Amino acid sequence: MHFLDLPPWLLSLLLAPFGLVLGSFGNVLIHRLPLEDPADRNVATKPSHCPRCKARIRWYHNVPLLSWLVLRGKCADCGAPISFRYPLVELLGGLILAGSVWVFPFGTLIWFKGVICALALLVLFFTDFTEFMLPDVLQFPLMALGLLFTVPQIFWPEHLTTVVGHGWNLLRVETFLNGLQAAPAWIPAGHLPVTWKESLIGLVAGYGLPWLVNLLYKLIRKTDGLGMGDFKMLAWLGAFWGWGAMLGILFAASLLAVVFALPLLISGRAKGQTMLPLGCFLALGTLPVVFYGPALWAGYQALFR
Ligand SMILES: [Zn+2]
Repeated sequence: MHFLDLPPWLLSLLLAPFGLVLGSFGNVLIHRLPLEDPADRNVATKPSHCPRCKARIRWYHNVPLLSWLVLRGKCADCGAPISFRYPLVELLGGLILAGSVWVFPFGTLIWFKGVICALALLVLFFTDFTEFMLPDVLQFPLMALGLLFTVPQIFWPEHLTTVVGHGWNLLRVETFLNGLQAAPAWIPAGHLPVTWKESLIGLVAGYGLPWLVNLLYKLIRKTDGLGMGDFKMLAWLGAFWGWGAMLGILFAASLLAVVFALPLLISGRAKGQTMLPLGCFLALGTLPVVFYGPALWAGYQALFR
């Protein structure tokens, strides 16, 4: 397998437009997937309309970032304000693809996995943020994908990918590892890739653990403490990054949720029953764990020594 590893800045420039377009498609998913009517959830063929005047969005008003700036955040037909979320998600999509080559070797499986995960988290963050919803139609395929990503390394555990590095040197990188940092493997000794067992345990425990917590909560408070979407999100994150990382993500997300909720509870603006978009915290919590998981875990253990 050969991949041309151009200088990262050049790859970033080449990939960024694709990221902007993916971000633009992400906006369609964020808007349509939470809709009530299944016919409205069609994200493939139905053209975009202004939600107020129903005018069809013309292609030249649908250019990522630029159109929103040119139209100054308003519908070209009726002047209805267009949410700032649109250019923001497009920009983040562009940044994800542009940034991906700086943290993962372009063309390797781990690069692809990282990009898929980041784009999925981007969409789920905003469906949860705006509608308190994490669509099954995204999360079930992500569970399967997380497991599938571990299959090639069962058959080709030592597989190497040749990339052309700076100064046109040929470099051999392990296909299933992150060549630059130990991020995706939550294993203190050695930077191994996520195995199919860790992935499968991550999937099952990711769903089962919050399910158990919720069961206890239900027995005590007689109401659901967590949404089903949160279980499924943790399940696919477990399938992607292994059960150890999944526990880290759950911990980081809980910490973030507490930090966010405490001021609201103290000031009386939220009560014990106020809904929190836990999916948003899971998305944010994934970043430090995937990138710095082993280092954070080592630091945590050192505290008790
Ligand atoms: Zn309009």
